[in-house]
Formats: sequence, C-alpha cells, structure tokens
Amino acid sequence: MSYESERRDDWSGGGESKNGPSEKEPAREGPPGMEPDGIIESNWEEVVDNFDDMNLKEELLRGIYAYGFEKPSAIQQRAIMPCIKGHDVIAQAQSGTGKTATFSISILQQIDTSIRDCQALILAPTRELAQQIQKVVIALGDFMSTQCHACIGGTNVREDMRKLEMGVHIVVGTPGRVYDMIHRGSLQTDRIKLFVLDEADEMLSRGFKEQIYEVFRKVPGEVQVILLSATMPSDVLEVTSLFMRNPVRILVKKEELTLEGIKQFYIYVEKEDWKFDTLCDLYDTLSITQAVIFCNTRRKVDWLTENMHRKDFTVSAMHGDMEQRERDVIMRQFRTGSSRVLITTDLLARGIDVQQVSLVINYDLPSNRENYIHRIGRGGRFGRKGVAINFVTEEDKRTLKDIEQFYNTRIVEMPMNVADLI
Ligand code: ADP
Repeated sequence: MSYESERRDDWSGGGESKNGPSEKEPAREGPPGMEPDGIIESNWEEVVDNFDDMNLKEELLRGIYAYGFEKPSAIQQRAIMPCIKGHDVIAQAQSGTGKTATFSISILQQIDTSIRDCQALILAPTRELAQQIQKVVIALGDFMSTQCHACIGGTNVREDMRKLEMGVHIVVGTPGRVYDMIHRGSLQTDRIKLFVLDEADEMLSRGFKEQIYEVFRKVPGEVQVILLSATMPSDVLEVTSLFMRNPVRILVKKEELTLEGIKQFYIYVEKEDWKFDTLCDLYDTLSITQAVIFCNTRRKVDWLTENMHRKDFTVSAMHGDMEQRERDVIMRQFRTGSSRVLITTDLLARGIDVQQVSLVINYDLPSNRENYIHRIGRGGRFGRKGVAINFVTEEDKRTLKDIEQFYNTRIVEMPMNVADLI
C-alpha cells in the first residue's frame, strides 16, 4: 500500500492513523507513547554534542561556525541526526532553544544545490517568522549557494511567481501564499523531499489546519515530515498521527533558568520619587553595555521614557500595547545595538533574545517573584554573565527579602565600582 493511499482525506477529527490497526482510535488520548498532558516522550537516545561529529557537508559546517555557533544546543544535539537520516521527526522544545537551526541544518544537509528545484518546504505561522527563518537558512547555507525564498502574504504576487519560476532550493512561507503559488503552478512540488511545520502548536491552533492539509496534499507521498512545537496539545497529536510515519519523537524539557553567574545588587532609593534621579545617575554605566529596564506597568514605561528623553538620554521603549510594526523596529534597533537601553514591562521578560544584554535594572521590583528570574535569569546553555540592579523603596524591603529567600540567593548593596563588573 502506498503512503498516499494510507493518508486520510481530511484532518478534521480522529479516525484511522497511517500507523496501522493498533492506533485506530488515536483521537482523544493521543497515540500510544504520547502523554495526554501535552508532552511527548522521547524515543531516540542518540546525542551528538559536536557539529563536527554530525557528518555534515564541509560547506555547511563552515556556514554554521561562521554564523557563530560553536556547540549544538540540546535539541540540536538530539534532533539533527534523525532528521538527516531521513526519519519523520517531532521535536518539542521551548522557543528560543535552537529549533530553527535544527531544521535549517537538516534541510541544508539534504538538498542538492546543483538541481534548481524546490526540495524543501517550510511552513510557519507568521510572515515575520518565515522571513526570520529564511535569513537563518541563507546565513547557514552561505557557502553552499543556496537559494531560499520566503513566500508570504502581503508581498507582490507576480514577483513571488517570478522568483519561484526562476528556481529555488528551499521555500519558507505562510500557508495561504504557499498554497496560492502551488495552485498557480509557480511552485513545483514534485521534487520536494522535506516538509517542515514550524511552531506546529500555534499553526494548528490558529486554524491553519485545512490550509496546511491542502498544501500537504500537493507534496509527494514519500516526503519526510519534520514538525517542531513548543507544546503538544491533543489537536497537534491527532494530526501528527495522520501524516507522519513512525516519527522519532524528541522532547527537550524546559531549560531551567538560573541565577548563577548573575551578580545581584540593590540600591536603596527610599522613595518612588527618587528612582528617576538614581537611574539618570546610572545612565553612563547602562550605556557601556546594553541594558533592559523593567517597570511594572505600561504607563510607567511611557512615563519613564518620556522623562529620560526630556533629559536627553537615549532610550527606547517597548510594551505589549504597541503596534507589531513598531515593536519590530524597536527590537531591530536594540538587537543591532543602535539603541542600547530598552525600557519595557514583564510582557517581554520572557521573550527577549539579545545576546549582548548584560545589565538588567528592576526600576520596579516584579509584582510576582516568579518574574524575577524571568527578567534577570539565564538559561544554562547559552548562559552569560550579567548584573542585575534592583531599585528598592522602603515598602519594597520586605519583597526583596522574600525574593532572596525564595531563590535562596543573596542580593547585596550595589558597590561604587559596579561599572567594572559589567
Ligand atoms: P527556536 O526556533 O527554538 O525559537 P532559535 O533557533 O530562534 O530558537 O534560537 C534562539 C537563539 O539561539 C537565536 O539567537 C539563535 O541564533 C541562537 N542559537 C541557536 N542555536 C545555537 C547554537 N548552537 N549556538 C549558539 N547560539 C545558538
């Protein structure tokens, strides 16, 4: 029986899986070996902790090192090998753990750049993410002359068609535009051997299921499927059992944030009103490096930013109420270092991935102690040293004690030579 004939015609519910009779009713609890609580169980033991030992193409290896990676991350150590061996793979790991590079490297290893056909298709939930992935693929494939096109909504359709018709090796896009391009005959799918679904949890929960299925139907039956997801809700599990063949499952548990390597200080400011002058006094220290300043409310962020500007200090601000476009610009400026001090709220405490940030200021102590570690903590793997400075008013003294006790850590008064520590 061919793979094609085993595949279901719609993904709307449970029903038979392609993995055989033992999984006839996978729908509610998920297939065997998968936990109902949203976590998959790993069934692949191999760990390769060095890029050199992955048998990668020379030019790809050069691209990886040139991009600045030295050592594979936990998910990369586990998932790249089964991917390049051709298995269907489900990789579950928190965002920011290196999943993009995992599938990018796996694709680059497997494509033949001497053939100008689309050999890999990556679907992502947002245009921005698709573009970000395209950049990573191009950068890692820098020495391989790889053509990677981002096929996303909101861009010129004719231009998209022209690029695709010229021939590219890899297409990364959002489902709607990708389907459109296939439908118009501009994106040829018959040579596609890898199909990647990034942020599968988000894609499937955002109602892309039908569109993804439409695209999937157009790729060859023997395509290798790689699925990446931060969580494993039951709808994702249901769908995977319908279009993946005995997938290798890899789970990398949430990386613990740690306060190790972070010097924690407090400045006793006594009153709320004195925080501002204290911050201004610290500004020269902040801008030596890159710093993030946390406030507890969006209003405070705006207020502080305005007042800093009034005193001619260069700072940027970002919070969840801003337009996405504006947030992108600010994030870009901060990432490239053209802005060095960012004032923000807890909303961004978890998402910021800027390598150079080595100083965090809690202008306000976080309103819940869990957020303390998200603001200043670092994942062990890409752990960097850092300094955290907490502004403490009379009323905050108790909260600070509480944080110290909760994390079993010590927060000491800021020394005069703090600049030397950054
Ligand atoms: P995810 O796709 O899981 O959200 P990313 O692939 O975007 O994660 O990686 C998060 C950050 O870590 C990026 O800045 C990326 O460049 C960096 N990164 C990924 N893999 C490595 C590695 N092996 N060594 C160093 N940095 C890495």
